[in-house]
Parts: sequence; structure tokens; C-alpha cells
Amino acid sequence: MRIVFIGPPGAGKGTQCGRLTEEFGIPHLSTGEMLRKTERDSPLGKIVASYIDHGRLAPDYLVLPIVTQRLSEADCSQGCLLDGFPRTVNQAEKLDQFLVENNWELDVVLNLTVPSEDLIARLLRRAEQENRVDDTDETIAARLEIFRNQTAPVLDHYKQQGLVKSIDGSNSPDEVFELIRQAVS
Ligand code: AMP
Repeated sequence: MRIVFIGPPGAGKGTQCGRLTEEFGIPHLSTGEMLRKTERDSPLGKIVASYIDHGRLAPDYLVLPIVTQRLSEADCSQGCLLDGFPRTVNQAEKLDQFLVENNWELDVVLNLTVPSEDLIARLLRRAEQENRVDDTDETIAARLEIFRNQTAPVLDHYKQQGLVKSIDGSNSPDEVFELIRQAVS
């Protein structure tokens, strides 16, 4: 099972991805997590942090090798859950290419939707709980705008391939997961 999970920041992707990977026994590939793991004091880490801390997308020359390297690891041979990637049409095209080269296909693209006023409230709550440097008023606004301008077109890319299933993410985590389970099966 190969799943791409798309949703704006704060939609609850992290929670649902945890449940999905457990249910289907596939690895969870979060590019945000991978990038945050880069040592902040290293030269590469400083570059990565300069994007994350301002809510901007890291450049493809940094992101694409991290993702393709991870996808090439043995545990991804039977499937994976991609969370936070692709975030631009260019990344989606690069992923298409990688999938073709490996004779793989995506099964579904999940589109988790939540009204933007709810997202802002959720993100501010998360900022208090998790102390994430990119959950400030300014970066939240920047990340939501990037989602609208750069990531929403990725959905159109996958709609053309007939892969998108939209899920209403405003319900409780249990209800959302039930909708996801129905969409995936
Ligand atoms: P996330 O945890 O998915 O919200 O990602 C946190 C941050 O990591 C984003 O705001 C970006 O700065 C960076 N990031 C994550 N995934 C990508 C990606 N696919 N392309 C570029 N930047 C990314």
C-alpha cells in the first residue's frame, strides 16, 4: 500500500499517520520530521533551519535526495505512507518519475480538509504544547499561504490521475480515522 497524505498544517496529519502506519504496517515517511532531525549546528542543518523556522519550503535539492534515499530502503519495498511530500507540483512529478523507475504505483492520495480558522486555533494550541519553533503567528500564516499556493495544485495533479480521496478532518480523531479507513480499503 502506497499512500500520499496531503493536508494543511494543523489538519491532524501526524495523528492519523500514526494510526494508518499501525493499521497497515507500513513505514511513515514525514519529510518535516526528516528535516527537523538534521543537526541544527551543522552547515546543512543551518540551511534547513533557515527555511523551517520561517515556514518556507526547503529547496528541492535538499528534500528530493532525502526522500528518494529513504524510499530506497528495504522497509519501503512493500509500501509506505508519505506525509508532507510532495508539497509542490515539481516534487509530485519527481515522485511520479521515481515510482515509474521502480515499477511502483500510488494506491491513493488522501486529502485531509479542515476550515482555515480551525487550523489556526489548532496550530496555536500545538505551539504551546510542543514548543515548535515554526508554530508562531507569522510562520503559521506563511505555511498556510504556501499550502494554498503551492501544495493545493498538487491535488489537481493527482486528481488528473484519479487518485484523490478527500476526508473531512474537522471531526474527532476516531471519526476521521474511520473515514480514512473506508477511503483506503
Ligand atoms: P511539516 O512537519 O510537514 O509541517 O514540515 C515542517 C517544515 O519542514 C515545513 O514548513 C517546511 O519548511 C519543511 N518541509 C517539510 N516537507 C517539505 C517538503 N516536501 N518540501 C519542502 N519543505 C518541506
